[in-house]
Amino acid sequence: MTDVFTDLAAGNERYARTHRRLSSAVPARGLAVVTCMDARIDPLRVLHLRVGDAVVLRVAGAQVDEMVLRDLSLAASVLHVDRVLVMAHTDCAANKVTAEEVLAASEGVAIQLTGRGERNPEEALNRDLDRLLRAPALRRVPIAGAVYDVVTGRVRITRRHGDER
Ligand SMILES: [Zn+2]
Repeated sequence: MTDVFTDLAAGNERYARTHRRLSSAVPARGLAVVTCMDARIDPLRVLHLRVGDAVVLRVAGAQVDEMVLRDLSLAASVLHVDRVLVMAHTDCAANKVTAEEVLAASEGVAIQLTGRGERNPEEALNRDLDRLLRAPALRRVPIAGAVYDVVTGRVRITRRHGDER
């Protein structure tokens, strides 16, 4: 029987040779990034960051749900995160699915992904930003929204809150 994970073990063998040990889980640049699970996005490279610079939360559609809110609150209080970037992207499969499709895909498992059935990442992003702005634990944390273009590789910051927060 072939082991479908063999490639990963071999890949890690190579990685470990140049692994750089970091002593702290506190992100060096005080940043949390929320982005989609889309395989085309490498959040650290897209933003020219290094391992250790930022905490990264990846969820389908970069949707801000209860778990994302919980984790960002934790990151702000325990990991001293002092800025949050929510980075949606163009051509997002998670934003295109409908509520019915999500329900069918979940096969009875309770999941929170909201099928939004829309093509415009900015509309969904704006709702997510509004949700974050109401979160008590993030009251003093600057929050920005951005859209990553999977074709050009460019990130456009669409909304920004909190230089005054
Ligand atoms: Zn996506």
